[in-house]
Amino acid sequence: MNASSFDVAIVGLGPAGATLANLLGQAGISVTVFEREAQIYPLPRAIHFDGEVMRIFQSIGLRPQVQEISRAGLKGMHFVNAQQETLLIRGGTGLNGPHGCANNYYFHQPELEQVLRTGLTRFNKVSVSLEHEVTSIETTGEHVNLTVLDKRLNISKQIKTKYVIGCDGARSFMRRHTDSGIIDLGLEQPWLVFDILLNENAPSLPDHTVQICDPARPMTFCNVTKNRRRFEIMLLPGDDPKGMTQEDELWRLVDKWIKPNQASIERAAIYTFHSIIANGWRKKRLLLAGDACHQTPPFLGQGMCACIRDVANLSWKLISVIQNKASDSLLDTYERERSPHVKAFVELAVKIGDIIQTTDPLLAKKRDEQLLSDQPTIFKFPTPQLGPGFWTGTSPLLGTIFPQPQLQNNQLMDSLVESNFAIITENQHLADSLKLDTMKLSFAKAWRATKFVIINALNTEASIWLKDQNSSFVLIRPDRYIAAIAGSIDAFSQDLLKLFSE
Ligand SMILES: Cc1cc2nc3c(=O)[nH]c(=O)nc-3n(C[C@H](O)[C@H](O)[C@H](O)COP(=O)(O)OP(=O)(O)OC[C@H]3O[C@@H](n4cnc5c(N)ncnc54)[C@H](O)[C@@H]3O)c2cc1C
Repeated sequence: MNASSFDVAIVGLGPAGATLANLLGQAGISVTVFEREAQIYPLPRAIHFDGEVMRIFQSIGLRPQVQEISRAGLKGMHFVNAQQETLLIRGGTGLNGPHGCANNYYFHQPELEQVLRTGLTRFNKVSVSLEHEVTSIETTGEHVNLTVLDKRLNISKQIKTKYVIGCDGARSFMRRHTDSGIIDLGLEQPWLVFDILLNENAPSLPDHTVQICDPARPMTFCNVTKNRRRFEIMLLPGDDPKGMTQEDELWRLVDKWIKPNQASIERAAIYTFHSIIANGWRKKRLLLAGDACHQTPPFLGQGMCACIRDVANLSWKLISVIQNKASDSLLDTYERERSPHVKAFVELAVKIGDIIQTTDPLLAKKRDEQLLSDQPTIFKFPTPQLGPGFWTGTSPLLGTIFPQPQLQNNQLMDSLVESNFAIITENQHLADSLKLDTMKLSFAKAWRATKFVIINALNTEASIWLKDQNSSFVLIRPDRYIAAIAGSIDAFSQDLLKLFSE
């Protein structure tokens, strides 16, 4: 392979591109990443991710570093009306959620991106080129040719690669090359977003996130990490977007909460929140991931989470195809699986947006009466099923993520599974023989080189899970999603044959 020829080129080094490069780099895939900008994007964006995403950071060996810059969010999110009555709660949870970590974390996006970038220095087959803009793409049968502009030297280079992944954000250049349509789920609204850094004399502010559903001025307040706090304020008809980001105006908008001598303003920006999903995430050797193929209003803090889930789904498939274990058609399951999953989150965010963004006082009164007529409604993040793809059977648990239990020696399950498939069972003996039989005799030749880790569930939380589901064997994929569940070894073998016979 010459210097300008790679297995995978990634366009864009935001959270999606950087996580994907870590996942691929770990598997020894040769990767080149191009990022147009010299610096990490400095304006205020994501502040929350969930336990599943922490688990993905664990899978790339960066959990301690990510924990170092994050705060476990234990107090949840409260939706209040103009009179400060609680309408709706997203529950706070303890430190031990189903993924072997807290359910929610708060963080500062540039710090997270730095951790992901530093992680890439571990892999000598991953190269990162900052200030390099991908300007054109041409696909031939066997590979893709990229033209990349080195912005520092103002010269263009040619790169040859097997696959190109567009992690190039909301205004994706790659999206045009995949001929994707756009499904619009209906929300489009400008908001002012700004972060402040508290001084020592700052008043005490809530630890939980507050969604202020005041029809006169919907807004959100959030404790980020350390002394950083986030305000998000909806623009109303007649607001002057430019004027809104001026310091005086920012202080006026949050006067009830904090005064200029108690904090400093770090950064402010106006964003238009969208709710869209691209239709067509793959065209031959080109694929999209992250904001390039979906965008959500941030009311659930799930946009980047979806990006990270995309690349966890895509990476093991790409690795299997590049290592000749699976045929290229495995990549077609990526959009089929991920699109309905992300849609469930975007649709919920739009619904939540309808609650928060109500500006008609009469409608707001009706909403309040409805929501206050009972105890505050408590809602959780959805755990949607993937669309049809690399899983088989009819249980509603198929295509959902398997929890991360502690095993007998207090080890977290994923540290044994690593980036492999795993069979979880109490019947170690049967599982071992099944593994040998299926691998020797039945699987398609290429998959035979795949490693299956057997997880002994006996006397662990996994055993309780199996009993609750009335099952004895579970197959999880490298992204920890459930691909098969069965009560008997015979049924389970049939499932494996179906999945691995190509
Ligand atoms: C106000 C706000 C609050 C948010 N809050 C949350 C939250 O709490 N939780 C959450 O999960 N998400 C949140 N999000 C969403 C989250 O920030 C995004 O989903 C995430 O940053 C998208 O990551 P990405 O890697 O797909 O794209 P980006 O981060 O946009 O990265 C794309 C990269 O591609 C580069 N690029 C583009 N074109 C080219 C090219 N031709 N060549 C080379 N490089 C190129 C760009 O320079 C950029 O660096 C929020 C967003 C906003 C705006």
